[in-house]
Amino acid sequence: MNAQRAIDRLREGNLRFVAGSPEPHRADSALRERLADAQTPFACIVTCSDSRVPPEILFDQSLGDLFVVRVVGTILTPEVIGSVEFAVEQLEVSLVVVMAHSRCGAIAAAVAEIPLHGALAAVIDCLKPFVASAKLAGFTGVELEAEVSRRNTMNLIYVMQHESPAIADAVKNKGIELHRVYYDIATGCVDWDF
Ligand SMILES: [Zn+2]
Repeated sequence: MNAQRAIDRLREGNLRFVAGSPEPHRADSALRERLADAQTPFACIVTCSDSRVPPEILFDQSLGDLFVVRVVGTILTPEVIGSVEFAVEQLEVSLVVVMAHSRCGAIAAAVAEIPLHGALAAVIDCLKPFVASAKLAGFTGVELEAEVSRRNTMNLIYVMQHESPAIADAVKNKGIELHRVYYDIATGCVDWDF
């Protein structure tokens, strides 16, 4: 499946989800058994761990369709990049989607400078440079949070393309595409022009 077909499939699935008419859930025993020997997902989705943004549900896809990488705040880590490299190199997905979302607790915590401790503080620290640069650019309020999400996901895509030889090669020579999208948890809509 080429990247455009993969995008179409995700768009169509999201429209079904928004309309409240998902296809009958495809995670039956026959499909499970068919997938036992090999997986052939058509897209890799990188997003937040938030319980309200499960890609399989909001894109209305089945068992085996999506290779999903989730971490709080959709932060950049070597594990995230390595997971995308696995999807691109080993599973040969044609599409990588980095999905930010509205009302992200991690983004809100970074913007509000809430004091945190332990490993969570380190997670939120990853977002602080984007808060600082967005504030410098004049963003405030809800628009500030969206802008931090935009800058964070832009950075993720940039690092994938410029610091991962495997992903850069796949973009250049295999026609894979990297896209940023924004998911509105209230409407269920995925914005592809984020
Ligand atoms: Zn989130």
